Amino acid sequence: MNHVGIGYDVHQLVEGRKLFLGGIEIPHGKGLDGHSDADVLMHAICDAVLGALGERDIGQFFPNTDPRWKGVRSHVFLEEASRQVQFRQGKIVNVDATLIAQQPKIAPYIPEMRVQIATALGVQLNKIGIKATTNEWMGFIGREEGIAAMAVASVELPE
Ligand SMILES: [Zn+2]
Repeated sequence: MNHVGIGYDVHQLVEGRKLFLGGIEIPHGKGLDGHSDADVLMHAICDAVLGALGERDIGQFFPNTDPRWKGVRSHVFLEEASRQVQFRQGKIVNVDATLIAQQPKIAPYIPEMRVQIATALGVQLNKIGIKATTNEWMGFIGREEGIAAMAVASVELPE
């Protein structure tokens, strides 16, 4: 049986933080605020995979009140989502995600992001689609106050 899941995440852009998106550090004046490395793209993908399993969000697996996850790199969350798929004898069919950021320019980083995400999930590169768009200077994303990401995942599960 084929199951789909959806994920959405947003983090605030602040001074004094490094910017991690799709598992890579991107040189930028600001970074995303959060308990972990605040990698909004990986978080949205994690929630999409968990959603396809009928599970709740990433925060249920990794509470942001738990000091163990403070500053942790987000590939750990994707690895856990992948383990949850394996527990159920499932298989990730594909993941598609869109990053919404006014700045910085994301396009040059997409090939490496795909590698990082495919590696963390333990799937082939061609199962991971990453796209990026700006918010046309509108709203909080357009004002560069934050970055959002949305993702869908398709997971094959035994009936
Ligand atoms: Zn997040």
